[in-house]
Amino acid sequence: MQIIKNIEEIQALREKMEGSVGFVPTMGALHQGHLTLIQRARTENDRVVVSIFVNPTQFLPGEDLDKYPRREEADRKICELAGVDVLFMPDIETMYHGDEVKLKAPAYLGYVLEGNRRPGHFDGVVQVVMKLFNIVQPTRAYFGKKDAQQLRILQKMVEDFFMPLEIVPVDTVREEDGLALSSRNIYLKPEERKRALSISRSLKRASRLIMAGETDADAIEMAMKDIMKEIDVEYIAIVDRDFRPLRKVEIKKTIILVAARVGATRLIDNIWI
Ligand code: AMP
Repeated sequence: MQIIKNIEEIQALREKMEGSVGFVPTMGALHQGHLTLIQRARTENDRVVVSIFVNPTQFLPGEDLDKYPRREEADRKICELAGVDVLFMPDIETMYHGDEVKLKAPAYLGYVLEGNRRPGHFDGVVQVVMKLFNIVQPTRAYFGKKDAQQLRILQKMVEDFFMPLEIVPVDTVREEDGLALSSRNIYLKPEERKRALSISRSLKRASRLIMAGETDADAIEMAMKDIMKEIDVEYIAIVDRDFRPLRKVEIKKTIILVAARVGATRLIDNIWI
């Protein structure tokens, strides 16, 4: 595995790569969720590139940029063992040049739900992912459904800018007890982790209600709220694939999302119906 920090070197390597290139952009502190994306990229492509870059422009003032978990050594080992060809780990000065041309996330999709709670977050995401795509020029790029709104926005970016690559969505990887894997889970104290389980339980409950014939969004939301009484729910949203609110759930067209604070940790999760 080659570890590359500068743009010229990775571009030179990319030029020599033959066949398809699968790309997995991450912010590091890799876990089984990231690994699943990498493994999928490994089976579907001739070459696999992973990036680790904690992107400052997608953090709002007061968010956890400074204390975001960094585990360079362990991450390298995980990538090596997973058969990654190139690990791209640029520093901030390599990626950003000060007064830049800026991309903006879509006015609706980029500013509801996560975008409403974290205004400007998705502007930072599209800015960095556009840069990474231009540097790596992947055939396919792999993103988790865990970050459903990010996934949809990046699919739109590729469509809107006629970019010659495929975005591949990957199902959310969970702990055995249902907790969605996240680099931020390490912030949770044992008691908080227990309470955090109510998020995935509420989503499971919603899915069971729907399978039993319930379609009313309000009824589903009430049942979910009831399960999450002991955590600080920021939003429950029942939306279509473009994140427009639905009054009635439609099978294969609905996403149910939750954002909640458990202690000082903010968690998101969702289920695709
Ligand atoms: P991050 O390092 O948090 O920016 O995540 C990098 C990629 O991994 C994103 O595409 C995430 O959606 C994806 N990811 C994070 N957690 C999970 C998970 N539990 N299951 C599947 N994909 C995930």
